[in-house]
Amino acid sequence: MSLSDIRARITAAATAAGRSPGDVTLIAVSKEQPEDRVLPVLEAGHRVFGENRVQEAAGKWPAWADRFGAVDLHLLGPLQTNKAKAAMELFQTIHSLDRLKLARSFARLAQDLGNCPQLFVQVNTGAEPQKAGILPEDADAFIQEARALDLPVIGVMCIPPVDADPARHFAQLAEIGARNGLAALSMGMSDDFETAIAHGATHVRVGSAIFGARR
Ligand SMILES: *Cc1c(COP(=O)(O)O)cnc(C)c1O
Repeated sequence: MSLSDIRARITAAATAAGRSPGDVTLIAVSKEQPEDRVLPVLEAGHRVFGENRVQEAAGKWPAWADRFGAVDLHLLGPLQTNKAKAAMELFQTIHSLDRLKLARSFARLAQDLGNCPQLFVQVNTGAEPQKAGILPEDADAFIQEARALDLPVIGVMCIPPVDADPARHFAQLAEIGARNGLAALSMGMSDDFETAIAHGATHVRVGSAIFGARR
């Protein structure tokens, strides 16, 4: 298991950037991973996990949480409005707030449920048509609208285009966060989390480098 390797690399990258390693949260992305790969990470004491789909997460995490105690679950994937309530009940943090309709659902449900997960606004920094997220030029206005709904927006999130140099996208996301007063930056995956940390990432989302390739 390479959880400790990844932790060491995060520490090194943060230190090299003049940052405190404690300011970088490692989200272990357990989507599509079999139980025999996830249990060792839980047994090692890690409690922060990321999932892409509400249904998949709901099918496995309640049992693991019963066994290992409270876990800190992050939803990373696109969210359909009709699954917003289930997501709010299962996840502590949602990284994929990407449209006003979803923001309005969160606001309404937060009243009923009496609380709301922490939220990241997903920004489509590459302006890719097939990818979710607010376009960079619309981000400031969207963040304002989400705040006007009293939503707990803590940061911004991006997934750079596959073949692009991620550094430019991380820098752009950091700039959007800074000018909107948002301290949290969800960026960096298995192949580029060190670059993301150099650009200020506070939440890195690492799957295959911890668990192995997804089947
Ligand atoms: C799957 C996924 C990850 C993890 O990807 P790896 O390359 O396995 O580290 C991170 N973020 C999001 C949004 C994902 O969907």
